[in-house]
Amino acid sequence: MDRYGLWINGEFTESKRNEWFETRNPADQSVIARVARGRGEDVDAAVKAAKSAFESDGWQNMHPAERGRILLRASELIRRDRDELALLETMDNGKPLNQARTDIEVSARYFEYYAGVADKILGETIPVSPGYIDFTQREPFGVCGLIIPWNYPMQVAARTAAPALAAGNTVVLKPAEETPLTALKLGVLLKEAGLPDGAFNVVPGFGVEAGAALAAHSGIDHLSFTGSVPVGTEVMTSAAKNIVPVTLELGGKSPNIVFADADLEEAVRWVVNSIIQNAGQTCSAGSRLLVERSVHDQLVSMVKDRMESLTVGPGINNPDMGPIISEKQLNTVLRYISLAEEEGAEILTGGSRLEEGELAKGYFVQPTLLDHVPRGCRVATEEIFGPVLSTLVFDEVDEAISIANETPYGLVTGIHTRDLSKALTVAKKVRSGQVFINTYGAGGGVEMPFGGYGKSGFGREKGLEALLHFTQLKNVLIRYGSSLA
Ligand code: NAD
Repeated sequence: MDRYGLWINGEFTESKRNEWFETRNPADQSVIARVARGRGEDVDAAVKAAKSAFESDGWQNMHPAERGRILLRASELIRRDRDELALLETMDNGKPLNQARTDIEVSARYFEYYAGVADKILGETIPVSPGYIDFTQREPFGVCGLIIPWNYPMQVAARTAAPALAAGNTVVLKPAEETPLTALKLGVLLKEAGLPDGAFNVVPGFGVEAGAALAAHSGIDHLSFTGSVPVGTEVMTSAAKNIVPVTLELGGKSPNIVFADADLEEAVRWVVNSIIQNAGQTCSAGSRLLVERSVHDQLVSMVKDRMESLTVGPGINNPDMGPIISEKQLNTVLRYISLAEEEGAEILTGGSRLEEGELAKGYFVQPTLLDHVPRGCRVATEEIFGPVLSTLVFDEVDEAISIANETPYGLVTGIHTRDLSKALTVAKKVRSGQVFINTYGAGGGVEMPFGGYGKSGFGREKGLEALLHFTQLKNVLIRYGSSLA
């Protein structure tokens, strides 16, 4: 069995207390590796390493084109090791191998994308009084603390670390205790790519220990958190105490709105894929289906057929859907399914744990379609984080918009219609940070800013927008004329 230390200052080290925890494969509960259990004192060591890497000229004052070259090399190394990384992700998280391969490719893309902009972080000149010239420049914050979840471990590590590093910051990353392995491998690859020691550190461990210590550390200059609303609230409270900026990406209850004039075959593909990908454990999962009444029966029957045709099993066998991450999360999903019935919804397909043969060892649940879900009830408004799709019916465009906006979240909305004018009207009125029209989560990725309205959080990941979040603005005014005005 493999052992992984903390990744601090460019090498693996034991935790100060020499404590370890096990990470398991959710498909069969087998132990994959023992991992160092970081606590406050280890976070402290990592922050010191990151601070000293920031204060030396090794990273922030490197020529930005050279910073870009190192990040580009990192993307090449991720691609070189794609098979090993994908396998590791599938074992640690449970997701189907093909989805893990996509995750690794997207991670490589993040480094490639931000490599290309490292030397294009521009300022502005601002017209001021005669005899003066004013300009802005964007500077790194310093040490960025990144706390990430278990659902897309490598992707979210890359999504947050690549722009932070491109802007000249250094990083301390806390991966989720369920899935620490690919982030630790990323440390090794970044070193091989030429990143100076200490610029990227990983402290695996538990949320209340390593995570809370990182969020509260006075040496952190910027925090980025992806995960649940309650923990996001705690991280924001810690950030407030230290007056550091924070970016929160907290999940959602995103709708696919299907109008009667949509290409229903196409819509079904997007609707089902968006709720079964990663077994529904995706912040942007399309977990609500809002369907126009006249096509309700037809659409729901098509969704049901498609869900029933899906294969579920260990990620290594490349099924359509793998297991849920943990017993705790599985129980949450099953509780929501029971609640759905209590709230008056009808289970059209799925609804149970899968326990035949080998599946009994893992945390498998059937893709589940709920129909006639009453507006405003808990399964219609709360994030389940499993392959459970809640169907609601509407008659008018305004009603669709009002149901879409009827949750505390606002991450993504899918709109399916052949009427572009209707699509754009709805796109304008839905409260969400991203809108997909006649698609859902395909056709673009790392380039498009992503983030929430409402309780889905704030700040933006991906694209140039994320890069700007990892910089602070300095204004410089020069007097060159003789005027003293
Ligand atoms: P979580 O918020 O508890 O964990 C996310 C990360 O925060 C992990 O690295 C964890 O170790 C860390 N953490 C936990 N407690 C902390 C604390 N007190 N201080 C600092 N860091 C801490 O999420 P979870 O328990 O793994 O999942 C619970 C729910 O969160 C899910 O059901 C889902 O609704 C949501 N979630 C959302 C996303 C997303 O992508 N937005 C990802 C995972 C989970």
